[in-house]
Amino acid sequence: MTRRVPTTCPYCGVGCGIVLNVDDSGRIAWVDDDPANLSSVGMLCVKGRFGATFVNHPDRLTTPLVRRDGVLQPATWDEALDLVARRLPEYRGRFGSFASAKATNEDAFVQQKFVRLVMGTNNIDHCTRLCHSPSVEAMLQQLGSGATSNSYADFEAAGCVVVIGCDPGSNHPVIASRLRRAIDDRGVRLVVVNPRRIDLCDRAQVFLQPEPGADVALFNGMARAILDAGVEDRDFIASRTEGYAAWEAAVLELTVEQHAALAAVDAGLLREAALLIARPPAPVGHPPAGRPGTCLLWGMGITQHTQGTANAHALINLALLTGHLGHPGAGISPLRGQNNVQGCGDSGCIPDSLPGYQRLDEGNLASFEGAWGASPPAQPGLKATDMIERILAGDIRAMYIVGENPLLSEPNLHHATMAIQALDFLVVQDIFLHETAALADVVLPACSFAEKDGTFTNSERRVQRVRPAIAAVGESRPDWEIICDLARRMAPGAGVARGQFEYASAAGVFDELARLTPFLRGLSHERLDREGGLQWPCPTPGHPGSPVLYAESFPRGRGLFVPVRQGSFADETPDADYALILNTGRVLYHWHGGTLTRRVRGLLARVDTVPVAIHPDDAAPAAISGGDDVTVYSRRGRLRGAAVVTDAVRPGSVFVPFVKLNESAANFLTNNAYDPQSRIPEYKVCAVRIEKGHAARRRDAAATGALRPQGEAAIDHEPVPGHE
Ligand code: SF4
Repeated sequence: MTRRVPTTCPYCGVGCGIVLNVDDSGRIAWVDDDPANLSSVGMLCVKGRFGATFVNHPDRLTTPLVRRDGVLQPATWDEALDLVARRLPEYRGRFGSFASAKATNEDAFVQQKFVRLVMGTNNIDHCTRLCHSPSVEAMLQQLGSGATSNSYADFEAAGCVVVIGCDPGSNHPVIASRLRRAIDDRGVRLVVVNPRRIDLCDRAQVFLQPEPGADVALFNGMARAILDAGVEDRDFIASRTEGYAAWEAAVLELTVEQHAALAAVDAGLLREAALLIARPPAPVGHPPAGRPGTCLLWGMGITQHTQGTANAHALINLALLTGHLGHPGAGISPLRGQNNVQGCGDSGCIPDSLPGYQRLDEGNLASFEGAWGASPPAQPGLKATDMIERILAGDIRAMYIVGENPLLSEPNLHHATMAIQALDFLVVQDIFLHETAALADVVLPACSFAEKDGTFTNSERRVQRVRPAIAAVGESRPDWEIICDLARRMAPGAGVARGQFEYASAAGVFDELARLTPFLRGLSHERLDREGGLQWPCPTPGHPGSPVLYAESFPRGRGLFVPVRQGSFADETPDADYALILNTGRVLYHWHGGTLTRRVRGLLARVDTVPVAIHPDDAAPAAISGGDDVTVYSRRGRLRGAAVVTDAVRPGSVFVPFVKLNESAANFLTNNAYDPQSRIPEYKVCAVRIEKGHAARRRDAAATGALRPQGEAAIDHEPVPGHE
């Protein structure tokens, strides 16, 4: 007899509904789709359908671990939490914390409250810093809100969809399915912008393959083409925007041909794409009276650059110019990466805002003090990438990291490893003993999504329930419960009012989050159970939720044009020693660094070696054929993989997914150069060279953990001599 438990997929930001079927032994037997879920409408990708077995993997952490005599050893919860409670107060003022975009909103809310009230700092951040922080910065400045403006259903109602710097077929497969259906059934036009040819290109009307890092030139070129043709939305610009004249002057500095030459694309194709975006034809079944819209979807190909925020500005300028905002079948959608990266930010795990993106101003601090009995600190905290740098400067001496593995996700992993090793005290709370956990002083075992009660918020702002289907594995506990327990052990000395970390349930945590967050105020677990997932803003219990934003106005009033000009393409460009450009991304069968999917046998069997895609023109001189062992070198490290010789990548570039396989990972190569505004690293461009054959392995004894699983935490990539 199986039990069926409807919940939400733990992988990507699409947020598909899944049904876990639990057998008599209490294990997940199989996973079904959930036809009632409005985000996934009965679809799942291979990870959602077959990727849940990691929850019962033998590598799961089952007891707390405490480092004694240099070795991580099993401990009781009291021993571990009392040790953390005793040590952390020493580090007030020199402390930072990473939250988890894979944990629930309830987990995130309690963690940021702990960091602010108990540790007295706003030094809390999460992996949005590494994916869409430029999008959020740009949208907040130009519109006043940092979230997607519309819904997945709008992709199917649009006249044109533009897929920019992302590969939904690998990263957001259910979105890709919805797009294919819209194109095939309704004649929705597709424009793809990507340095790499992706599967969706087969259905694209126009495919533009620009030089990596040339996005501002590309989007300004499109804007210039729209202005030249006189197809901008004059009414929208006049009634809904400001800053137009200065922006227009910047765009008019170059002709379409000059912009196109900078971006290394054909000017005719650039014009064709621009006109489709501005005036898309009506799809099948479009109401005769309505104006067909365009949806702009983008991913980390736009953001993970040293000019990531400028790229996002250029794209949002295009939406303002064409008026494709605020009506069905139109809008802007940064496709979020992790399952709850939207919710982790909404819940306050960012260093310059309280929950609900409420600024650290006097009024907001006073209202949180009224609710919590103590004020959060007023000084903005450090961003995640800055925390890593400030460890090396000696300013951060202790960290508390929940559900995040910076020694796989940070750029330039040798540099990041030196930083983490330099900490005086490190606490990691997670489900596996990954690379970062292996260096911790205390490791706390957390529950997986399948053992938790709570909510995730997906890429279309839909808050959805997460429900416990199986018993907690070993002694693991939900993240929010662990942090509440720790806070209660520390709080008397921290001056926090009694009861601030006492919750009867995850529903109680959510109620407090909703009370303090205006756009969530109408939501509760009980309502979500009754009605299914709802999209914020949902300010009152009777509000139906908001599929489309900005129908009448923007949160900042008028939409702001921000002039941007093409700067240098990247911090590190090819030269005689490192002549190729490295581009990074994902593969369908693994999720990001692979901490979860490497523990799903069926997924690992599909891709068990890092694929290195190289153009035939670059493979031939190095005598590299498809399937050959290859080593890719940058100035910071190297990785071993298997060559895929393909003209899907531009000549002069190689593509490597982020997944770590056989102890090789792209982030040993990537560059810790940052966008000045958002502080996102430039994962998308660095200079590399490639050689046939695998370089010899060498183990670095520094990264040791007594209980480290085989092949997990070894640092096996010495830096290239002469560089860090
Ligand atoms: Fe899960 Fe994303 Fe696949 Fe949906 S598309 S099943 S959310 S991984």
